[in-house]
Amino acid sequence: MLYKRSSALFKEANQVIPGGVNSPVRAFKAVGGTPIFAKSAKGAFIYDEDGNRFIDYINSWGPMLLGHAYKPVVDAVVEKAKLGTSFGMPTEIETKIAELAVSMVPNIDQIRFVNSGTEACMSAVRLARGYTKKEKIIKFAGCYHGHSDAFLIQAGSGAVTFGSPNSPGVTQGTAKDTLLARYNDIEHVNSILEANKGEVACIILEPVAGNMGCIPPKQTFLQDLREACNQHGVLLVFDEVMTGFRLAKGGCQELYNVDADVVCFGKVIGGGLPVGAFAARAEIMNHLAPNGSVYQAGTLSGNPLAMAAGLAMLTAINDDDQLFKRLEEKTAYLHKGIKNVLDKHSITHTINRVGSMISVHFAEDEVVDFQSAAKGNNETFKAFFHGMLDEGIYIAPSAFETWFITDALTYEDLDKTIAAVDTVANQLT
Ligand SMILES: *Cc1c(COP(=O)(O)O)cnc(C)c1O
Repeated sequence: MLYKRSSALFKEANQVIPGGVNSPVRAFKAVGGTPIFAKSAKGAFIYDEDGNRFIDYINSWGPMLLGHAYKPVVDAVVEKAKLGTSFGMPTEIETKIAELAVSMVPNIDQIRFVNSGTEACMSAVRLARGYTKKEKIIKFAGCYHGHSDAFLIQAGSGAVTFGSPNSPGVTQGTAKDTLLARYNDIEHVNSILEANKGEVACIILEPVAGNMGCIPPKQTFLQDLREACNQHGVLLVFDEVMTGFRLAKGGCQELYNVDADVVCFGKVIGGGLPVGAFAARAEIMNHLAPNGSVYQAGTLSGNPLAMAAGLAMLTAINDDDQLFKRLEEKTAYLHKGIKNVLDKHSITHTINRVGSMISVHFAEDEVVDFQSAAKGNNETFKAFFHGMLDEGIYIAPSAFETWFITDALTYEDLDKTIAAVDTVANQLT
């Protein structure tokens, strides 16, 4: 395939946008080469500026659960735009989407809308701190909760249990309050809680991790976290920015039958517009301004275009009782197809999958946490990524990302994808 126009556009972008992109992973740094500039998309396909067509497994990193340019969402946004795009006043549609979200998700009475997943997680942690009057938080290595300071933390050195900044600009003072645990390791969490008795406000996690590839929680991990939180008076925050409305109507709480105290949303809830949200029982949400003293605000929060897109999206999901079954079956079909092909070519791999999230790791051992995900062979991944791209299949340009299956994919598309894996695997061996 030719990427002539994309290359020219990337050059031009680099002059006026740092690295040519507004979010780093788009720059293809992890895989090399020039990023592809999108021009349009419809259903399961994305079209680039050179006229190439790709089957899309990124789907804007998750929001496009029902495919690109999904008609009910597009129509809702177009109609709303004609009435004015922002008022800075309350609007009826904010209540409508809030009522729907609250009816779909367990354990939440109220929801506050923001403009990104980052904002949702940042605000959820502030709320947890304000509610518990404690300052420390526990997060897991490899889980991503957006780019606010408290989350840009890596494992500390030596015997210290707190983390250190993993970006310049994040202060030691901030890092000191974020404790880092190993995913799927309840004993590690318990030892951190013991060592920081009475000081931890919340544990935040991706209940199915999606930002180190897809990593499911081990059998009792979520339930064990719930019990540890109860025992220590700590809030359990589910960051469902990726999994919310994707794995089940009620997200991971429904899927795994575990109760969270605070839930964060993003991606699917905005139907492709910039939306995030966080939600909890009224008793917790009452601590937020203007009712309570925990401050949180946003000029464009609850924006009518964003709410129209989100409401159309959630309505479509809520009205379709077969959706999650179909997604699961499509993803299982892809899983089986790719596994057969990679086995045939004797390429070492591990495939993880939950519902419509799937990731292919070129690693021998089970992938259960950041450490095991990092053991994947990155050279193989790079070659695989570029091979797939040339076959017209667009997967995320990093081995640490999940593939997102959309309902717009047909079995013919999936067969094409599996055939492409066969072609590429042949080149790899
Ligand atoms: C994408 C993501 C975020 C950040 O959302 P943005 O909208 O990019 O700020 C937070 N948490 C998880 C689990 C995510 O996947």
